[in-house]
Amino acid sequence: MSGSVRLHPVVVIGGGVMGSALAYWLTRLEPSMSVTVVERDPSYARASSALSAASIRQQFSTLVNIRISQASIAFLRKASDELGWDDEKPDIMLREHGYLYLAGPSGAAHLRRAYTVQKTCGTEVALLDSAALAGRFAWLNTSDLSLGSLGLRGEGWFDGYALLMAFARRARRQGVRYVQAEVRGLAIDGHRVTEVILSDGSRIGCSHVVNAAGPWARRVAAMAGVKLPVFARRRTVYVIACPTEMSPFPLLIDPTGFWIRPEGTKFIAGLPPSDDADDQPLEPDYDAFETRLWPALAHRIPAFEAARLERAWAGYFEVNTFDHNGILGAHESLGNFLFMNGFSGHGMQQAPVVGRAVAELIVHGRFTTLDLSPLSFARIARNRPLHEENVIG
Ligand SMILES: Cc1cc2nc3c(=O)[nH]c(=O)nc-3n(C[C@H](O)[C@H](O)[C@H](O)COP(=O)(O)OP(=O)(O)OC[C@H]3O[C@@H](n4cnc5c(N)ncnc54)[C@H](O)[C@@H]3O)c2cc1C
Repeated sequence: MSGSVRLHPVVVIGGGVMGSALAYWLTRLEPSMSVTVVERDPSYARASSALSAASIRQQFSTLVNIRISQASIAFLRKASDELGWDDEKPDIMLREHGYLYLAGPSGAAHLRRAYTVQKTCGTEVALLDSAALAGRFAWLNTSDLSLGSLGLRGEGWFDGYALLMAFARRARRQGVRYVQAEVRGLAIDGHRVTEVILSDGSRIGCSHVVNAAGPWARRVAAMAGVKLPVFARRRTVYVIACPTEMSPFPLLIDPTGFWIRPEGTKFIAGLPPSDDADDQPLEPDYDAFETRLWPALAHRIPAFEAARLERAWAGYFEVNTFDHNGILGAHESLGNFLFMNGFSGHGMQQAPVVGRAVAELIVHGRFTTLDLSPLSFARIARNRPLHEENVIG
């Protein structure tokens, strides 16, 4: 960074898990760096990071996502030491119980393809035919299944809100300033964003601006005239009680698209919506439980005939409609405007590594630990999508 811009802070718009992970990494890599996070709602009531199912898997179809997961699980396993200090040790409650992808006859080839990619990366994953599935998971209806892909290590779930809080607290402790305000505009001079304009009209000069606005990222991009293909799409999470004990129980992804996993003594589940409109109100879709999820669940796991829906909540996926992958790094013509958006349902698990990667871009001008250039913003301008086939919900 040149001396003149160094006087100004890096301004991060949005203090969810992405913005807070970035703030943590910036001040860890460069303790003297001035960083301001602008967050309009410190209660995080509508933020994806507070409404997430917070699960992590190694089973992606693209190399870069698998590499991110490998680095992320390593970070999550030692999050308490990385993000704690003195006698304050955050507990993100990581549980490594695996993911189980299921396929009928038409989906088996895809599972085999993804398995081959995963094995080249050293992922510990096993393909199970329907007899092996029945042997391992006695509670599963395997009658119409051809294949399952089970993650043996590095997959499971954790407390996403605890991770967000741990990043934010540690970032504050390292000197990051959190400002409660809404960003309403960006001032631009030539090829640089020079100021961030807040709702009360005040302005913050900036060396860099980072868009970490989650499902609202498209609006922040538009403040600089940038088109970002990221849309807020509602997803409902259902909390279900089932009287039958079933163990072991990994996060299961059914060929029909629903997912389910244990959460304490209950289960949480979701499914892709039939109507995926933008910006729907954050009210749970109870109809979908009755008409689509429960029948599919009871078919796959007969014990769920006796299940009871206890409650539900809804949050926004920040869906990148271009290729369902994160969009990282600087915009081509606005060199100090960076993005960390569009994670399409896998942002919580990627935040520790994406935060570090974007911090490296700002501090060192390049990725230094893991090359995430396949996720760069430039691929959109060049119309080179990097499709991720394993997208859930
Ligand atoms: C139901 C559900 C289930 C999910 N399950 C998983 C999962 O199992 N695994 C996984 O990895 N990911 C999952 N995700 C996705 C993951 O939670 C998100 O990718 C991640 O939380 C995104 O973090 P973020 O910080 O980018 O966004 P957010 O947490 O939404 O934070 C963005 C912040 O920006 C603030 N903001 C926006 N605009 C402005 C502005 N103009 N001025 C100031 N502040 C602003 C908002 O108030 C918000 O706090 C799930 C998401 C949902 C909704």
